[in-house]
Amino acid sequence: MFNFHTHHIDEVPCLLNVDVQHWQESFPSHVALSVGLHPWNVSAGWQETFSLVRAAALDERVWAIGECGLDKVRGEALSLQIEAFRAQALLAEEVHKPLVLHCVKAYDELLEVRREVVLMCKQRSCCPQPWVLHGFRGGPEQAKQMMAKGFMFSFGHHYHVETLRYVFSSSVGTERLGNKGIPKDSTVSPFFLETDDSRLSVRQIYDQVARHLDVDVARLEHLCDPRQTIFR
Ligand SMILES: [Zn+2]
Repeated sequence: MFNFHTHHIDEVPCLLNVDVQHWQESFPSHVALSVGLHPWNVSAGWQETFSLVRAAALDERVWAIGECGLDKVRGEALSLQIEAFRAQALLAEEVHKPLVLHCVKAYDELLEVRREVVLMCKQRSCCPQPWVLHGFRGGPEQAKQMMAKGFMFSFGHHYHVETLRYVFSSSVGTERLGNKGIPKDSTVSPFFLETDDSRLSVRQIYDQVARHLDVDVARLEHLCDPRQTIFR
């Protein structure tokens, strides 16, 4: 069992999102870190904080860059958020680590940055790093569009049940895939489970998702373990 995105240390292995000021503190050995510049915290002079993120990104305890992304409802001007986000997307490529994404009503802009990164990777003949939309609450149609662009999802307590079922049905074939478990077919994608800033245990999320999908928790534990795929 793995908690893909949390702001509190979980009892099971987890990806703990820490503030860049705190990533050097000591954490239990079952805790991996994600460090990034949240769109709500982007302000003029973001480059200073970004230089701390860059230093953290090189550390082996930091498994992912994030959460980072774009938010049209909260935070500074979108143009500034895009600048800071682009820098982090490029950093993820540089250090070969996935991105944990926060996106609110800015999917077009997110896709635009994704296009830039994919193009850059094509020119360098390398594969873009996985981008995981955390706390995804979109509908199945949006999920389908994002999956076609190579995005993955992490679901928390609140999600669209039909989206969960759609992503699950698309991911079933990936359990047998090799190549770091990352599907070659970009319409097929595994997904992860998280508690985010809630005080729930991720076990509760696994139980809830297992009920919605009518599968055993054990099966989900395998399918939703990023250590089998993007963190291998
Ligand atoms: Zn979060």
